[in-house]
Amino acid sequence: MSETGNRRRGLLLLVSSPSGAGKTSLSRRLAADHADLALSVSATTRPPRPGEVGGREYRFVDRPAFDGMVARGEFLEWADVHDHRYGSPRAPIMAALESGKDVLFDIDWQGADQIAAAAPDDTVRVFILPPSMADLARRLHARAQDREAVIQGRLARAYGEIEQAANYDYVIVNEDFDRAYADLAHVYHAERLRRARNPWTEDLVQTLLAEKL
Ligand code: 5GP
Repeated sequence: MSETGNRRRGLLLLVSSPSGAGKTSLSRRLAADHADLALSVSATTRPPRPGEVGGREYRFVDRPAFDGMVARGEFLEWADVHDHRYGSPRAPIMAALESGKDVLFDIDWQGADQIAAAAPDDTVRVFILPPSMADLARRLHARAQDREAVIQGRLARAYGEIEQAANYDYVIVNEDFDRAYADLAHVYHAERLRRARNPWTEDLVQTLLAEKL
């Protein structure tokens, strides 16, 4: 239900970027600031980074468990990213949509493509760009959560990921976090107001037209 108490059609907000461009912090803040927006917690075969908690950042599973989930059709989408598997579990997403919430996905372009193909009218795709490749490298090093070889691999793949920005609806440059966050929040707010996501407004229009002064 929306703030007005009227039924809305929930949207799927897909946020992608090369690793280190800030999409995870932006996504988590957007979800924290909006009670109507549920964050999809992915399953992954990647080992936890220091500070990551199972069930919060990710559901950390081993490869046989992940492949079992694939075989049982439990993912809305899944993909190989940076030598590991990542997937969006279907059940919590459907439950969130049925309870009238929107769902935010912090996923790579392969996953965003799959969801956009399955539900084109309900998806909004946002790509976060770093202001420069040097800045991206600085952020990956500053994060200091990955080994140097892992960082180099992520940087090498960033070029291919940035090319995918052309398929997204919105592109936000994360030079200043607060500014980028405001941009993301504006996109989300405007997309929520689309007429097609608010079918109840048709009834309101009819009611207004029938109201004689
Ligand atoms: P990281 O290992 O840095 O947390 O994530 C690596 C990449 O995998 C990021 O681009 C992240 O958005 C993406 N990712 C995380 N979860 C999923 C998912 O469920 N599906 C897909 N396709 N990509 C994901």
